Amino acid sequence: MSLVILENIKKNYISGEVSVPALRGINLSIDKGKFVSFVGPSGSGKTTLLNLIGCLDKPTEGKIFVAGAEVNNMNRKTSAKFRGDNIGLIFQNFNLIPVLTVYENVEYPLIMVQDVPPEKRKQRILDLLEKVGMTDQKDKYPAQLSGGQKQRVAIARALVTEPKLVLADEPTANLDHDTAYKVIGLMHHMEKEFNTTFIFATHDSKIVGEVEVIYTVEDGLITKTHENKKIGEEK
Ligand code: ADP
Ligand code: MG
Repeated sequence: MSLVILENIKKNYISGEVSVPALRGINLSIDKGKFVSFVGPSGSGKTTLLNLIGCLDKPTEGKIFVAGAEVNNMNRKTSAKFRGDNIGLIFQNFNLIPVLTVYENVEYPLIMVQDVPPEKRKQRILDLLEKVGMTDQKDKYPAQLSGGQKQRVAIARALVTEPKLVLADEPTANLDHDTAYKVIGLMHHMEKEFNTTFIFATHDSKIVGEVEVIYTVEDGLITKTHENKKIGEEK
């Protein structure tokens, strides 16, 4: 079953007097439980694609379905609620809240969007912190963590709401080689454990070798779809 469907998606940004065509007609469907990536040069439209799928922005033209719901014409309030219930986000710069501890950062989306009772909340946060190997750091603040540790916390935060879909924009861009591999491995493990769909945007060749499907994005179009057979068969 397709979790994400894009039908003839176009996106123009208005910059002063000019309209910048960032996406020029994208058709795509991504199945539930897949581990896929948009790959392409800077400026090709990867972040724009993730923002649209993540209901953070609206297309100029076309339709987007996520988990069976048409998201392209939802209003702000509805799309915020939909995102909170269905989508986890991971960013290049981790985007942790500096004044909150590791535990509180992971707790945050549960308080903000989801109505989870306190006891259940605590168990879920502790379970996830254990899964990402951050139990011992739970009372530390982001400034006290390494890049790899911050990204582990960001993964836990993205998964704590038990989303159907996780979107990660250049999640390894600020990590060294070994840490990047570990972080990808962790996301792969989480994908299998929770049957969560992961969609990355990257130009990092380390990720390219680790995903099931690679969509090459060039100048606002998907120019190539490559299935990484070996990884698909392992599942
Ligand atoms: P990528 O993530 O692949 O680097 P983006 O999706 O960020 O690409 O950008 C695609 C194109 O859209 C680029 O030409 C970029 O300059 C333009 N763009 C992105 N965001 C905006 C914006 N907010 N306003 C105007 N142009 C934008
Ligand atoms: Mg980008």
